Amino acid sequence: DRAAGRDFVRRIIDRHLEEKRYEGVVTRFPPEPNGYLHLGHAKSIVLNFGLAEEYDGRCHLRYDDTNPLTEDEEYTRSMQADIRWLGYDWGDHLHYASDYFERMYEVARDLIRQGKAYVDSASEEEIREARGTVTEPGRPTPDRDRSVDDNLDLFARMRAGEFPDGEMVLRGKIDLASPNMIMRDPVFYRIRHAHHYRTGDAWCIYPLYDFAHCLEDAFEGVTHSLCTLEFENNREIYDWILDAAGFAEPRPHQYEFARLSVDYTIMSKRKLIRLVQEGYVSGWDDPRMPTIAGLRRRGVPPEALRRFCRSAGVTKTNASLDPSALDFHVRDVLNPVAPRALGVVRPLRVVLTDWPEGHRELLEAPLHPDDPDSPTRRIPMSQGLWIDADDFRKDPPPGWKRLSPGGEVRLRHGYVIRCHSVIEDPEGRPMTLHCTHDRDTLGRNPDRRIGGAIHWVGAEGAVPVEFRLYDRLFREAEPGAGDDEADFVDDLSPDSVQVVRGFVEPALRDRVSAARRAGDAPHDLRVQLERVGYFTVDPDSDGDELVFNRIVPLRDGWKP
Ligand code: ATP
Ligand code: MG
Ligand code: MG
Repeated sequence: DRAAGRDFVRRIIDRHLEEKRYEGVVTRFPPEPNGYLHLGHAKSIVLNFGLAEEYDGRCHLRYDDTNPLTEDEEYTRSMQADIRWLGYDWGDHLHYASDYFERMYEVARDLIRQGKAYVDSASEEEIREARGTVTEPGRPTPDRDRSVDDNLDLFARMRAGEFPDGEMVLRGKIDLASPNMIMRDPVFYRIRHAHHYRTGDAWCIYPLYDFAHCLEDAFEGVTHSLCTLEFENNREIYDWILDAAGFAEPRPHQYEFARLSVDYTIMSKRKLIRLVQEGYVSGWDDPRMPTIAGLRRRGVPPEALRRFCRSAGVTKTNASLDPSALDFHVRDVLNPVAPRALGVVRPLRVVLTDWPEGHRELLEAPLHPDDPDSPTRRIPMSQGLWIDADDFRKDPPPGWKRLSPGGEVRLRHGYVIRCHSVIEDPEGRPMTLHCTHDRDTLGRNPDRRIGGAIHWVGAEGAVPVEFRLYDRLFREAEPGAGDDEADFVDDLSPDSVQVVRGFVEPALRDRVSAARRAGDAPHDLRVQLERVGYFTVDPDSDGDELVFNRIVPLRDGWKP
């Protein structure tokens, strides 16, 4: 059964193609350029461009730029970069709703001529009032029966700039008693004396979403117009306008799917803008942001983001996903490919008291330990080294497999060492561990049991780095949902980033330098620091001053 396991959108398309309703599949991704793209948009991109790929059709990138007040060129540029990075391409089909203003205007005039639209000088307040309620039908406003000629004349004068903002609107003449409130003579055009980032001052009337969107789809020959569930009630007006404007079948139709939401973050451009403008984050690409730019800088591979979006499914029920679902896909993608390196995030000094002074060794370790044919890298070892403070306990709990006074542990890819004494600072915190090493244990197990292996970096040649360890941006699953007064910024987590200084092995610095010489973007280099997590280079790195972002820690409990 072909339909089994296919989501409802794919089943609809399968059927349409079987019926030969359309020659091919044409979808579109229609963002408004009023901010940066986020995870929710990623879901829509993966769905729309993914459908075009699967059905050998096409997907348009169309800027839904009908609101002059909020839109900007910067956003159109960032959106293209984000979509490309996600792995998709619109080919020759980059479109702007603002390119259709003249055609839309002609459709509006056509509707006026058919008696299906009128200019209303009632105020916003009066229009709302007269629209009625769910239980009460609406009433006509005084202008509803204005003549076609008067309507055409007034509409032309609206366009010519004769009236101030808000003086009048163009409304559809549909059904004031419709149970669907949207059908009660919706507003099609309003006056806005504002500069548009593309059309400049050519227009002072702008079409509203319901009027514009279906026409954009129809002009472009879109077949399946996918939007989120909140637009379910808008489907009726979508069809009404296309019918009235004379678009015969086969023409586009709207289908609604559940929007993506993710716990502990927010997903509205309007709110994300506040985080940027009020300085709660360093910018749109702050690695804690749910923006595509933020996820990219964080080091999330595009394949992980695509898998995450696909795993959310295409359904009719809104649900919020746990952010660890994305982390799962990040690990799943990176584990087989990310080269390994040693790095210490919270350094504690170790001195090997039995190591010959000035002696230096180069140990070998595979870049991909699971691959028997893996290339290797060299790890320098000398008398001093750094281990992670978390790997030492003065009073270890039962079953402790790492280092403690008198205990033994293996240095990953190196020797077994034993801790003899602990030098503490005045507050009793360990500062330096004095240890010895067992020369017979390199690549060989001794006849006694060794609890575990820990990561480390040889002090000589250690590369100092700044680590940025990220956590959830918000401490509440649903930021701002507390009570009516609640502001989502009050739910920002105080611990969403920790900045610490540590060390990485020198081979990793060489790898970063090579990537730079090759012209790679910093986020293209992703490594696993063994036992710690996956990391990438942050663009704040300056020459030899390396900054590493933690993409995800090595594990958490979540399973798909
Ligand atoms: P925002 O409120 O964040 O600005 P929006 O829907 O107004 O979101 P648009 O730029 O109009 O943003 O969205 C472009 C496309 O992305 C639309 O087709 C919309 O349905 C889709 N989209 C936006 N947010 C989500 C989401 N959370 N889940 C799935 N699709 C989404
Ligand atoms: Mg929108
Ligand atoms: Mg919006």
